[in-house]
Amino acid sequence: MLSKTLEKALNDQIQRELASAYLYLSMVAYFEEQNLPGFARWMRVQFHEEQFHAFKIFDFVLERGGTVTLQAIEAPPSDFQSPVDVFERTLAHEQKVTAYINDLYALAVKENDYASQVFLQWFIDEQVEEEKNAADILANLRMIEGSPQALFMLDRELGTRTLPPEATPMQTEAEA
Ligand code: MG
Repeated sequence: MLSKTLEKALNDQIQRELASAYLYLSMVAYFEEQNLPGFARWMRVQFHEEQFHAFKIFDFVLERGGTVTLQAIEAPPSDFQSPVDVFERTLAHEQKVTAYINDLYALAVKENDYASQVFLQWFIDEQVEEEKNAADILANLRMIEGSPQALFMLDRELGTRTLPPEATPMQTEAEA
């Protein structure tokens, strides 16, 4: 059984993962408007991955006999200035999410909730990947600033990103 404190913290994290999805959806719109379909596709994958993260926690709370309480999600920003600006915000956002995941893990340790610690380990690994992805693309963007040709090539490359099978919408755990 989940403690009430951990249940509340996990519900807060469901909200944050969905807010992340909403942020990335806003970035999809920006890139589509900028005629950068590859960047937009990369962000579409990101949008689905965040929903998958939210669902993972949602299912875990229920499996542990907890109650899921959904919370309001604020409107995301839509005033993006450039691809560099978008990826600076993406990296900063993921660093913030990492800090929240670390806090959750610390809480699970404090409460001697071993199942939650094992569960959260997946998110700790995932955040390493999330930060690296955003940092790599940001570094590439800074390198090619001022070169539309290079931006075009990077857009092509990012457009090859695919959604991992486990994050496919409506995929159940048994099918994954
Ligand atoms: Mg996430």
